[in-house]
Amino acid sequence: MKILIVEDEQGIAAFLKQGLEEECFAVDVAEEGKKGLQLALSGEYDLLLLDWMLPGLSGVEICRQFRKESYETPIIFLTAKDTLDETIFGLQSGANDYIKKPFHFEELLERIKVQLRPKSGVHAVFTLGNITLNTETHQVFREEQEISLTQKEFALLEYLMRNKGKVCRRTRIIESVWDIHFDYNTSVIDVYINALRKKLSLSEEENYIQTVRGVGYIAKEI
Ligand code: CA
Repeated sequence: MKILIVEDEQGIAAFLKQGLEEECFAVDVAEEGKKGLQLALSGEYDLLLLDWMLPGLSGVEICRQFRKESYETPIIFLTAKDTLDETIFGLQSGANDYIKKPFHFEELLERIKVQLRPKSGVHAVFTLGNITLNTETHQVFREEQEISLTQKEFALLEYLMRNKGKVCRRTRIIESVWDIHFDYNTSVIDVYINALRKKLSLSEEENYIQTVRGVGYIAKEI
């Protein structure tokens, strides 16, 4: 998961970056509004943390322009402004949540996790290294290149990517991706995993889908 922080107070930005990296997020920081919007529009991020008062472009303005481009990435405001009117104004501009400064890192982390929780039934885009999977368009890309997958391969990859960073047990994979009456003893999962690795051209160094011996598989960024 990748987070963009747009914050001009270097101390806060560095503190957040370190804390989030320790929680295994990839983090970029922009200290100025226009740069922040430019990075946000790259579409690389799973969540944006926006300071309210910024040089160049305010957090609210970034939020508005970002939403105008139809991005649905969750946005959390970091704000010292705490009057009701301003909070409502912030949320109306398209933010999902806000947290008042000063705040406890743990509280922010919880709010981030709430925003990143997969919403069942809602279409989503998942990333794994340079692989992206879009559940709405049913497309998979490795960098710019589209990868053609069968329906089962897609479902398997989606399951692993939805559970990125967690060990997925073979029985759970079978239940979720295949018919529940499927013969548990077959090595069909391994066959599909190998097909996926091949189609995605995963090398040893970039093996985003790893075998957990005797248990199952885990999708993780190296
Ligand atoms: Ca500021």
